[in-house]
Amino acid sequence: MKLFRLPCQMISSEEIENASKVFSLSIPTLMKYQRSFEQHVNSDVIRNYLSIVTEPFKDIYTNSNVCGFSPVGQEWEVCFPATSPISVNVSSCGNPYILINLNLFPNLPFNERILSLGHENVHLKQMEEGRLIINGSKVLWEGDDWSERYIEAQKKLVLENHQELYRALPWEVEAYAFEEKLRDELR
Ligand SMILES: [Zn+2]
Repeated sequence: MKLFRLPCQMISSEEIENASKVFSLSIPTLMKYQRSFEQHVNSDVIRNYLSIVTEPFKDIYTNSNVCGFSPVGQEWEVCFPATSPISVNVSSCGNPYILINLNLFPNLPFNERILSLGHENVHLKQMEEGRLIINGSKVLWEGDDWSERYIEAQKKLVLENHQELYRALPWEVEAYAFEEKLRDELR
Protein backbone atom coordinates (compact mmCIF):
# COMPACT_ATOMS: atom_id res chain seq x y z
CA MET A 1 0.00 0.00 0.00
CA LYS A 2 1.20 3.48 -0.76
CA LEU A 3 0.53 6.28 1.72
CA PHE A 4 -1.21 8.89 -0.40
CA ARG A 5 -0.86 12.60 0.36
CA LEU A 6 -4.24 14.18 -0.26
CA PRO A 7 -3.95 17.24 -2.50
CA CYS A 8 -5.92 20.42 -1.84
CA GLN A 9 -9.32 19.65 -3.40
CA MET A 10 -10.62 22.04 -6.05
CA ILE A 11 -14.30 21.35 -5.61
CA SER A 12 -16.66 22.31 -8.43
CA SER A 13 -19.60 24.55 -7.59
CA GLU A 14 -22.02 21.82 -8.65
CA GLU A 15 -20.38 19.33 -6.33
CA ILE A 16 -20.38 21.67 -3.37
CA GLU A 17 -24.04 22.62 -3.97
CA ASN A 18 -24.99 18.95 -3.97
CA ALA A 19 -23.02 18.30 -0.77
CA SER A 20 -24.72 21.30 0.78
CA LYS A 21 -28.11 19.69 0.06
CA VAL A 22 -27.03 16.23 1.27
CA PHE A 23 -25.64 17.44 4.60
CA SER A 24 -27.80 20.56 5.10
CA LEU A 25 -24.64 22.62 5.65
CA SER A 26 -23.76 26.02 4.18
CA ILE A 27 -21.09 26.21 1.46
CA PRO A 28 -18.57 28.19 3.60
CA THR A 29 -18.97 25.62 6.39
CA LEU A 30 -18.38 22.74 3.96
CA MET A 31 -15.27 24.43 2.55
CA LYS A 32 -13.91 25.00 6.07
CA TYR A 33 -14.54 21.31 6.84
CA GLN A 34 -12.82 20.24 3.63
CA ARG A 35 -9.59 22.16 4.39
CA SER A 36 -9.58 20.92 7.96
CA PHE A 37 -10.09 17.34 6.71
CA GLU A 38 -7.15 17.62 4.26
CA GLN A 39 -4.80 18.93 6.98
CA HIS A 40 -5.90 16.17 9.31
CA VAL A 41 -5.43 13.36 6.74
CA ASN A 42 -1.96 14.64 5.78
CA SER A 43 -0.78 15.22 9.37
CA ASP A 44 2.24 13.27 10.67
CA VAL A 45 0.25 11.70 13.51
CA ILE A 46 -2.36 10.24 11.16
CA ARG A 47 0.17 9.10 8.54
CA ASN A 48 2.34 7.39 11.17
CA TYR A 49 -0.61 5.57 12.63
CA LEU A 50 -1.82 4.59 9.14
CA SER A 51 1.55 3.09 8.24
CA ILE A 52 1.37 0.89 11.35
CA VAL A 53 -2.23 -0.15 10.62
CA THR A 54 -1.54 -1.05 6.96
CA GLU A 55 1.82 -2.79 7.63
CA PRO A 56 0.37 -6.38 7.63
CA PHE A 57 -1.27 -5.80 4.20
CA LYS A 58 1.46 -3.88 2.39
CA ASP A 59 2.59 -6.88 0.32
CA ILE A 60 -0.96 -7.90 -0.68
CA TYR A 61 -2.23 -4.57 -2.04
CA THR A 62 1.09 -3.15 -3.19
CA ASN A 63 -0.10 -0.46 -5.60
CA SER A 64 -3.18 0.83 -3.81
CA ASN A 65 -3.12 4.45 -2.65
CA VAL A 66 -4.30 4.75 0.93
CA CYS A 67 -5.22 7.62 3.27
CA GLY A 68 -6.34 7.51 6.87
CA PHE A 69 -8.55 9.66 9.06
CA SER A 70 -9.87 9.71 12.56
CA PRO A 71 -13.27 11.44 12.46
CA VAL A 72 -14.35 11.04 16.10
CA GLY A 73 -14.54 14.46 17.72
CA GLN A 74 -13.87 16.34 14.46
CA GLU A 75 -16.28 19.04 13.25
CA TRP A 76 -16.60 17.31 9.86
CA GLU A 77 -17.46 13.96 11.40
CA VAL A 78 -21.10 14.41 10.25
CA CYS A 79 -20.05 14.20 6.60
CA PHE A 80 -18.93 10.57 6.90
CA PRO A 81 -20.94 7.42 7.61
CA ALA A 82 -20.41 6.70 11.31
CA THR A 83 -20.11 2.94 10.86
CA SER A 84 -17.93 2.64 7.74
CA PRO A 85 -14.35 1.50 8.55
CA ILE A 86 -13.11 1.86 4.97
CA SER A 87 -14.18 3.43 1.66
CA VAL A 88 -12.87 4.63 -1.70
CA ASN A 89 -12.64 8.33 -2.48
CA VAL A 90 -11.39 10.27 -5.49
CA SER A 91 -9.22 13.36 -5.26
CA SER A 92 -10.19 16.26 -7.50
CA CYS A 93 -7.17 15.44 -9.69
CA GLY A 94 -8.85 12.10 -10.38
CA ASN A 95 -6.70 9.82 -8.19
CA PRO A 96 -8.78 7.14 -6.48
CA TYR A 97 -7.60 6.16 -3.00
CA ILE A 98 -8.70 3.94 -0.14
CA LEU A 99 -9.73 5.92 2.94
CA ILE A 100 -9.34 4.07 6.25
CA ASN A 101 -11.24 5.14 9.34
CA LEU A 102 -8.61 4.74 12.06
CA ASN A 103 -11.25 4.82 14.79
CA LEU A 104 -12.90 1.66 13.40
CA PHE A 105 -10.67 -0.32 11.03
CA PRO A 106 -7.96 -1.40 13.54
CA ASN A 107 -10.66 -2.90 15.79
CA LEU A 108 -11.94 -5.27 13.10
CA PRO A 109 -10.90 -8.93 13.27
CA PHE A 110 -7.98 -9.72 10.93
CA ASN A 111 -10.19 -11.52 8.36
CA GLU A 112 -12.59 -8.59 8.21
CA ARG A 113 -9.70 -6.23 7.53
CA ILE A 114 -8.54 -8.44 4.60
CA LEU A 115 -12.12 -8.69 3.26
CA SER A 116 -12.84 -4.98 3.42
CA LEU A 117 -9.51 -4.12 1.77
CA GLY A 118 -10.39 -6.65 -0.97
CA HIS A 119 -13.81 -5.01 -1.41
CA GLU A 120 -12.37 -1.51 -1.78
CA ASN A 121 -9.69 -2.82 -4.10
CA VAL A 122 -12.46 -3.96 -6.48
CA HIS A 123 -13.64 -0.33 -6.60
CA LEU A 124 -10.11 0.92 -7.29
CA LYS A 125 -9.90 -1.52 -10.20
CA GLN A 126 -13.35 -0.47 -11.52
CA MET A 127 -12.11 3.14 -11.51
CA GLU A 128 -8.76 2.34 -13.10
CA GLU A 129 -10.55 0.49 -15.90
CA GLY A 130 -12.87 3.46 -16.41
CA ARG A 131 -16.01 1.42 -15.72
CA LEU A 132 -16.74 3.47 -12.62
CA ILE A 133 -16.25 7.22 -12.80
CA ILE A 134 -16.93 9.27 -9.70
CA ASN A 135 -16.36 12.97 -10.13
CA GLY A 136 -17.70 14.66 -7.04
CA SER A 137 -21.41 13.91 -7.09
CA LYS A 138 -21.40 12.78 -10.75
CA VAL A 139 -21.31 9.01 -11.04
CA LEU A 140 -21.06 7.05 -14.29
CA TRP A 141 -21.21 3.27 -14.38
CA GLU A 142 -20.30 1.71 -17.74
CA GLY A 143 -21.45 4.90 -19.43
CA ASP A 144 -24.78 5.30 -17.61
CA ASP A 145 -25.50 8.24 -15.32
CA TRP A 146 -26.13 6.95 -11.80
CA SER A 147 -25.63 10.31 -10.05
CA GLU A 148 -29.14 10.73 -8.64
CA ARG A 149 -29.48 7.13 -7.48
CA TYR A 150 -26.01 7.38 -5.92
CA ILE A 151 -26.79 10.59 -4.02
CA GLU A 152 -30.06 9.11 -2.75
CA ALA A 153 -28.32 5.92 -1.61
CA GLN A 154 -25.48 7.85 0.03
CA LYS A 155 -27.91 10.13 1.84
CA LYS A 156 -29.76 7.11 3.24
CA LEU A 157 -26.47 5.52 4.28
CA VAL A 158 -24.95 8.58 5.97
CA LEU A 159 -28.03 10.08 7.56
CA GLU A 160 -30.05 6.95 8.41
CA ASN A 161 -27.42 4.18 8.24
CA HIS A 162 -29.73 2.50 5.73
CA GLN A 163 -27.61 0.14 3.56
CA GLU A 164 -30.11 -1.51 1.20
CA LEU A 165 -30.09 1.10 -1.61
CA TYR A 166 -26.33 1.46 -1.38
CA ARG A 167 -25.65 -2.28 -1.66
CA ALA A 168 -27.88 -2.49 -4.76
CA LEU A 169 -25.67 -0.06 -6.75
CA PRO A 170 -24.09 -2.18 -9.56
CA TRP A 171 -20.46 -1.46 -8.60
CA GLU A 172 -21.31 -2.45 -5.01
CA VAL A 173 -22.98 -5.68 -6.15
CA GLU A 174 -19.68 -6.62 -7.83
CA ALA A 175 -17.55 -5.69 -4.81
CA TYR A 176 -19.81 -7.58 -2.37
CA ALA A 177 -19.73 -10.65 -4.65
CA PHE A 178 -15.92 -10.59 -4.61
CA GLU A 179 -15.95 -10.18 -0.84
CA GLU A 180 -18.17 -13.26 -0.47
CA LYS A 181 -15.87 -15.31 -2.72
CA LEU A 182 -12.87 -14.25 -0.61
CA ARG A 183 -14.78 -15.06 2.56
CA ASP A 184 -15.36 -18.64 1.33
CA GLU A 185 -11.67 -18.99 0.51
CA LEU A 186 -10.67 -17.83 3.99
CA ARG A 187 -12.91 -20.40 5.68
ZN1 LIG B 1 -18.25 -0.78 -1.92
